[in-house]
Amino acid sequence: MSSEMDLGQGFAVNLMQHLVVPTFVLDAKCNVLIWNKACERLTGVTAAELIGTREHWRAFYESPRPCLADLVALGRTEEVKEFYAVHEGHADTAFGVHAENWCVMPRLGTKLYLAIDAGPIYDEDGRLLAVVETLRDMTDQRTAQTALEQLAARDGLTGIANRRSFDERLNNEWKSERRDSRTLSLLMIDVDHFKSYNDTYGHQAGDNCLQRIARVLEQVVYRPGDLVARYGGEEFAMILTATDAEGATIVAKRIIDHIAGLAIPHSGSEAGHVTLSIGIATLLPKPDLPPEALISAADGALYRAKHAGRNRFVLDPAAEA
Ligand code: GH3
Ligand code: MG
Ligand code: MG
Repeated sequence: MSSEMDLGQGFAVNLMQHLVVPTFVLDAKCNVLIWNKACERLTGVTAAELIGTREHWRAFYESPRPCLADLVALGRTEEVKEFYAVHEGHADTAFGVHAENWCVMPRLGTKLYLAIDAGPIYDEDGRLLAVVETLRDMTDQRTAQTALEQLAARDGLTGIANRRSFDERLNNEWKSERRDSRTLSLLMIDVDHFKSYNDTYGHQAGDNCLQRIARVLEQVVYRPGDLVARYGGEEFAMILTATDAEGATIVAKRIIDHIAGLAIPHSGSEAGHVTLSIGIATLLPKPDLPPEALISAADGALYRAKHAGRNRFVLDPAAEA
């Protein structure tokens, strides 16, 4: 190696050491060549501990697993999707690979969302010399994004899922239940005489009543796949996955009973307290049937519940067959 080359390499290494971007470099066999100061600050693990070892995973994770640079060095970029929540650009490795992940940083005990880039360096003969990995702390952005997503999916008054996430979820469930040939049930739930409740007790009390009803609806579903949503106004919807008519009826009965237990006074209602009417539909999703078929069936059943005297549930006749 010429002295001119040495000077150049020394400068490059020095530059990398002091770069504000957390950076480390592996050789083709995944040994740590460089672990810069910003990387020490980010992880709490020093260069002295890691140089010449393959222990760099310890800086980010609690148990052994490849880092992005390892996957690039080993030519295993097709595995990136298994190890990272977000990934892109692994089709042409020469341009580098981008991925994002939550890392636990065991030394500091700080959970950070890192955006990671790993790019290979080749010699003139096309042999892999090293892989450079740079890291960016995106925790604040990620947290803000998650909060925004949650905000966009929730109903402001009751805190349960809003119409938008209901539509999205129904479409997704419809597809997956169709794939697995499982029945999907939907409950459409409408507050009885709610206009008169508002007129008698005021809009504020009306809002409060809707919040209490939402809490009850959340309480009666136990399965993580189920969804309780505010469909609009004083109407709620409940998606029950892999649930037949019998299961849906049990949930509907539980709702009616719990609401009776709340006994929210309502002079304009037959029962003297706030009641609900529920329409139940159960369908086995079919390729030629849109998810709206389930909504109209539940709506039809709800209409019948209203006309049969309210404060009850009615099962869509197709589900009874
Ligand atoms: P029914 O038993 O047939 O369902 O009668 P209803 O009075 O409940 O039905 P209607 O559709 O006539 O009235 C619904 C009422 O719900 C009218 C509307 O002001 C009220 N409402 C809708 N959204 C809200 C809300 O966010 N807060 C409050 N306080 N009231 C709401
Ligand atoms: Mg209504
Ligand atoms: Mg109503």
